Amino acid sequence: MEQDGGESGAASQRSPTRDGGGCAPGRKIPADGEVISGQATVDQSTITGESMPVEAAAGSRVFAATIASLGSLRVRVSRVGVDTTFGRVIKMVEEAEAQRADVQRIADKFSAWYLPVVTVIAALTFLIRRDPLATAAVLVVACSCSFALATPIAMLASVGAGARRGLLIKGGKYLETLAQANVLLIDKTGTLTLGRPRIERITPLGAFSSEQVLSLAAAAEHDSEHPLAEAVRQARRLQNAPALPSESFQAIPGLGVQAQVNGQKVRVGSLRMFQSEPFFADLQAHSSPASQQGKTELFVVCADQPAGVLTAEDTLRSEVPAALEQIRGMGIRQIELLTGDNQQTAAALAGALGIAYRANLLPEDKIAIVKAYQQQGSIVVMVGDGVNDAPALAQANVGIAMGAAGSDVAIEAAHIALMRDDWALVPEVFQIARRTMGVVKANLLFTMVYNVVGLSLAATGILPPILAAAAQSLPDIGILGNSARLLRTKK
Ligand code: ADP
Ligand code: MG
Repeated sequence: MEQDGGESGAASQRSPTRDGGGCAPGRKIPADGEVISGQATVDQSTITGESMPVEAAAGSRVFAATIASLGSLRVRVSRVGVDTTFGRVIKMVEEAEAQRADVQRIADKFSAWYLPVVTVIAALTFLIRRDPLATAAVLVVACSCSFALATPIAMLASVGAGARRGLLIKGGKYLETLAQANVLLIDKTGTLTLGRPRIERITPLGAFSSEQVLSLAAAAEHDSEHPLAEAVRQARRLQNAPALPSESFQAIPGLGVQAQVNGQKVRVGSLRMFQSEPFFADLQAHSSPASQQGKTELFVVCADQPAGVLTAEDTLRSEVPAALEQIRGMGIRQIELLTGDNQQTAAALAGALGIAYRANLLPEDKIAIVKAYQQQGSIVVMVGDGVNDAPALAQANVGIAMGAAGSDVAIEAAHIALMRDDWALVPEVFQIARRTMGVVKANLLFTMVYNVVGLSLAATGILPPILAAAAQSLPDIGILGNSARLLRTKK
């Protein structure tokens, strides 16, 4: 089952081995997991909507319902069936279909009223005109179901089209809210930046060596899922600094981490994490102007002794400026960067993008800012990576999670999850929301006009019952046709 090379179709007949599932060329990967060995090109478009296949090799994560070709993989399965990312997407889309948007509720109320109104019009027609045929035509031509259909059909089309593009929209109501949004809040690490920072400088302090600083920091970061933690662990591997065991790991959201390494308390985090420590001034003195260039400094403290400073650099996602420009063009003027990083780093980045910023924020500060905007009557969209932004994403009127494939928190907390890390999807989802609401309004208007004209013609005897019956399906056909436009996804 190792390395099949080539596209040998015969390999697809082999059965999985005991210790790991096998994925042979040209077959759908049956479960989520991590590649143990082998190499293949994986078409992940079912999950991410991205048609460019990705290379998978040992250590890569693969997802159920994606297709491996040009090689074979040996995969350690982590999730099967409904628990896989694909399974969750299906469940969420099903739930989304059951969600009712506000416009839908209004339409439902309206259709409940509509029936008695039609009955009254029919009764009046009979009383005034004494014409049973016209009365019958009134009853036949009235089409209340199209009011009920106008919204859900459009929403359904958009949710479905979105899922194919790698946009998981958890309910039509979020499209409705998104179309009215006026504030966009953006998280930094992993959202505006690639979230793959690299440690580019190590400044040891006191009696510590660079190697020791890396070993200690990487041990403390061993269990953290933060992108900065991965950067520290990677730096240790690259520099071949010894790996140390750690225990009692604790993450301090928005500040850093701490753990016991060789029996000593090691802390790694922002300057702010050590605000109330006696050695704070000492650390501050070692903070360099690096942060003015948009870099992030991590301070390493071992047993209350400053041990070193790690300078991390992350790259801005290249699609961000164009995406923000498009969003601004749609009339969303208030765009703000919210970050737990320091003032200078935030200022450098926000300045380059021409947006406002707030720095030194803890996760709860982000929630408070979202709430403050909402209290002013703003409709807030928040874009985050879901790692520690989940509460703010959930608080926002619409929370959008980046790169949600494989991330449980992001898929759960966000209202809209982008299954691939691509900022171009953000303006796209704004556009989908606007187009959807446009179609909903057109559907409702069409139904309204049809009913008014139809009822008038029927009541006056111009429209005979047979034609009225035929005309009755007109609004449904119109609504279906109009809504189907939303199924067309632009490439
Ligand atoms: P953002 O708001 O930009 O996504 P976070 O809230 O995740 O940033 O983190 C804010 C700051 O807290 C980081 O810039 C870093 O200084 C510090 N920090 C958070 N988690 C860690 C960690 N695991 N290791 C080191 N520092 C961390
Ligand atoms: Mg973040």
